Amino acid sequence: MDCLFCKIIDGEIPCSKVYEDEKVLAFNDINPVAPYHILVVPKKHFASIAEVSDKDMGIVAHIHSVINKIAIDEGFSNAGFRIINNCGEDGGQEVKHLHYHVLAGKKLPLYEAEKK
Ligand code: 5GP
Ligand code: ZN
Repeated sequence: MDCLFCKIIDGEIPCSKVYEDEKVLAFNDINPVAPYHILVVPKKHFASIAEVSDKDMGIVAHIHSVINKIAIDEGFSNAGFRIINNCGEDGGQEVKHLHYHVLAGKKLPLYEAEKK
């Protein structure tokens, strides 16, 4: 399948790895928007969160658990962080493989939903 993140998972394209287990890979975003900008992706290909069935939704709990672990290991758990999942055209999703952005390391600017 012609999917950038599947190629990273398969090792065809290199990445700066942060965490890996049998279900998930986490690596640094190539174009960081914060001091920490980590992408957490399931090894199984889902085009977006909208493509994850109830049966497979356990992967999302696992991803959140991995994010908590990364936050502690990288040292930004107490200061805080933001998790973002872009879904589809209006959500601004560019890479069509489910992924969660983890941003940390500075006071993050307001995002759209918080703007009045
Ligand atoms: P999206 O807009 O789909 O939510 O986020 C895609 C993210 O993937 C972007 O933040 C972009 O910088 C990142 N990205 C795109 N290509 C690569 C790549 O080849 N390697 C890494 N590490 N990140 C990438
Ligand atoms: Zn993929």
